[in-house]
Amino acid sequence: MSTPSLLILAGDGIGPEVMDEVKKVMAWFDDKRGLKFDISEDLVGGAAYDAHGTPLTDETMAKAQEVDAVLLGAVGGPKYDELDFSVKPERGLLRLRKEMDLFANLRPAQCFDALADFSSLKKELVSGLDIMIVRELTSGSYFGEPRGIFEENGERVGINTQRYTTSEIDRVARAAFELARKRDNRLCSVEKANVMESGILWREVVTKIGAEDYPDVELSHMYADNCAMQLVRTPKQFDVIVTDNLFGDILSDCAAMLTGSLGMLPSASLGVPMANGMPKAMYEPVHGSAPDIAGQGKANPSATILSFAMALRYSYGQGAEADRLEAAVEKVLADGTRTADLMQKGDGTPATTSEMGDAILKALTASL
Ligand code: NAD
Repeated sequence: MSTPSLLILAGDGIGPEVMDEVKKVMAWFDDKRGLKFDISEDLVGGAAYDAHGTPLTDETMAKAQEVDAVLLGAVGGPKYDELDFSVKPERGLLRLRKEMDLFANLRPAQCFDALADFSSLKKELVSGLDIMIVRELTSGSYFGEPRGIFEENGERVGINTQRYTTSEIDRVARAAFELARKRDNRLCSVEKANVMESGILWREVVTKIGAEDYPDVELSHMYADNCAMQLVRTPKQFDVIVTDNLFGDILSDCAAMLTGSLGMLPSASLGVPMANGMPKAMYEPVHGSAPDIAGQGKANPSATILSFAMALRYSYGQGAEADRLEAAVEKVLADGTRTADLMQKGDGTPATTSEMGDAILKALTASL
């Protein structure tokens, strides 16, 4: 079997700093667990624009299509704010998602016990929280036609179109049902079938797949507005949530903040299976390039390290090693090592980015 491949696109701001810590983790898995990766690195976002005048070259795009998984840091920063829309750093990211056809965006919202105090909700509501939001990522109102700003009856009108085909709903629903089976076997499908035809179709398709192919998974349906309310009222009622691009964008951010810090949140974007049976995939932290702390050794590398854990699980078939890595991060937090984003005034001296990475390596070694 060939060595599994990984393309690292560290990007801008804190991207390269946090990625350095993931590289240490990869070296640890190579050294201690015999997990070798064929790693290549390239530029994306502002870094690619500076070098090549584009946020993603065709060569990098082609490489991303070939590898088993892409691990991305973050893109963007104030230096690039005035660039034309077509070459903004974020365009590089959107091109990757679109051309790799990464239709299922997995956003876990997991509250580590040691961080329950950081949530905006009461500790008992979030302690032990473990939700997975599956957001459809390549269709819906961010892509539907017609779109644009037009003149009509003497005034301007802005138009976006919420559009879903049965096959688009089908594939993301199946991804969510499969995930539910590996977790607590519960799936909540979210739309607004009460006011939107796309929601009616969504509900019909999900219900049919559930009845025909996943009768063992407990399926429920919820309107998106109610789901937003339930997420802040009793978030632990959910296991897997599947929803469209627009509602998923909002609900996943809402769920994410239940868990405390942006510095802890990983994500995976998955596409169709490749020849090896694993999905096309890109993994990235939820946070951005954090220009306010870039270059200062203050960034929390956990979100990117946990994104690599998702890669171990979903792209490399190494679920047990993914569990080991997640447990190591949890142990470090429980032992009290914290970067500045996980501390409050008077809590003492925060760990630097590389100290946090080293503590995770130590916890990994202790797990052997
Ligand atoms: P951000 O996520 O970069 O930062 C928001 C706040 O969270 C900042 O105070 C930052 O210091 C803090 N933070 C973020 N990640 C952290 C970490 N790992 N450790 C400690 N603290 C962390 O969001 P923003 O400030 O709105 O955006 C900054 C730039 O990033 C913009 O150019 C934006 O377009 C871009 N962005 C990129 C992505 C991406 O690459 N996927 C996502 C969001 C924003």
